[in-house]
Amino acid sequence: MHLTCNQEIEGSNPSGGCLIRGDDMNIIIMGPQGSGKGVLSRHLNSKYGFALISSGDILREEIKKGTKLGKQIADIINKGNLFPDELTLELLKKKIRSSRQGFILDGYPRNLNQVKLLEEHLESIGKDIDLVIYIDVPDSLCIERISGRWICRNCGAIYNTKTIPPKMPGICDKCGKALYQRADEKKEAVEQRLQIFHEKTQPLKNYYKEKGLLKVIDGTGSPKEVLQNAISIIESFK
Ligand SMILES: [Zn+2]
Repeated sequence: MHLTCNQEIEGSNPSGGCLIRGDDMNIIIMGPQGSGKGVLSRHLNSKYGFALISSGDILREEIKKGTKLGKQIADIINKGNLFPDELTLELLKKKIRSSRQGFILDGYPRNLNQVKLLEEHLESIGKDIDLVIYIDVPDSLCIERISGRWICRNCGAIYNTKTIPPKMPGICDKCGKALYQRADEKKEAVEQRLQIFHEKTQPLKNYYKEKGLLKVIDGTGSPKEVLQNAISIIESFK
């Protein structure tokens, strides 16, 4: 890892010191749905300039572009089939290769086979993983965060029945239209995905722990607290 002082980043450092730019710091962010890993990844991306590589975003982009591959992806997802590990990595490769200041992987790897494929690829291009951050949030809180979400079909406003409830249940404050809950965000769907996550991810946690790369962050606090924790960990690499 290359350490350097950067004017822009230095200004945003509360301790006033010099932060790493993390030129070749490659990080995996892991955590269950609702742990806030997407938010943390975006914050670290804007703070340090690490390339943000989100497997979910990449798949959605491809579908949106309407390419032949995009149609294949949509077909697999719509049929509820599991997405082939090799194909996901193919989509991530270009972004990994072009990342100059390190990268953050969000949503990949999700199982041990993907870990193996990723390692083989990184080795072939002379890169490796420096750090794995696991955001720990109890299932009950994940369910509360996600299954409380209601979205306005008309203006896209997002509410949460616990934290930011609409004034009238089921009605958008901004435009007065009906709110809806995404099918994959309903309690039962979230519970099911959390169960799969724990099954598939526990071996990954153990694997990275044995490699000495795993750091666990308490994700029950605010996004700002989670970010501060992640920054302390990244800075301890100095
Ligand atoms: Zn609305």
